[in-house]
Amino acid sequence: MIVIRPSWRPWAAAVALLLLCALLLLPAAGLPIGAPAWWPTPVVVIDPGHGGYDPGVETDSGISEKDITLQISQALAASLRTRGYTVLLTRTDDRDYALPGQRGREAKRTDLDARIALAEAHRAVAFISIHCNSSPEATRGGAETFFNPSLAGSKALAQAIQTEVRKIPGMSLREAHDGSAYYLLQHLTMPAVIVEAGYLLIPSDRAKLVNSAYQRQVADAVATGLTHFLNNWAGAS
Ligand SMILES: [Zn+2]
Repeated sequence: MIVIRPSWRPWAAAVALLLLCALLLLPAAGLPIGAPAWWPTPVVVIDPGHGGYDPGVETDSGISEKDITLQISQALAASLRTRGYTVLLTRTDDRDYALPGQRGREAKRTDLDARIALAEAHRAVAFISIHCNSSPEATRGGAETFFNPSLAGSKALAQAIQTEVRKIPGMSLREAHDGSAYYLLQHLTMPAVIVEAGYLLIPSDRAKLVNSAYQRQVADAVATGLTHFLNNWAGAS
């Protein structure tokens, strides 16, 4: 007679499956700060403002905000990757996400929704949108960071970034500001900020914004601020 004994293998397989499920499900609750080395690296989403049909600010000399935001974003991505982060950019070339036939506000909303969806799908630990300020009335330049006070972590992240940005030599000193009117900051659920890297319509700032050395300085300052934020912010708003 053949006796069929219960094998250990199904149990081992079940335990392995449970462990795998736990591993896959845990990040859904948010990546822990100070996680062990084997933990999946946190995903940071960088959003180069504008693109495609939408150039952002344009100067008389033919400079488009969308080009500068992409250059700074790529420098920021490089800086963050050397620090061990997984970085996703909402665009890596000159494009937008509006649908054919859409115009104006509708096109802008579809474009922004696609960028938001990317960050949400990857459960990003932070979202940083890079822009250039366009105020024609401003007489003083300087980079500044905007947050939504209703969004957990947004203000702390903005202040951490602004603290570092202010250390750039020659920087006009500005504070982090309430940016709760921005669509992006209203609709994202992770700590999110908008960094205006300078005033494109102020000549002294414009000269800096097109300069790759300044672009890297801003990128490194933002990366340092984000790192401090992620090391210190444990989920409290
Ligand atoms: Zn912009």
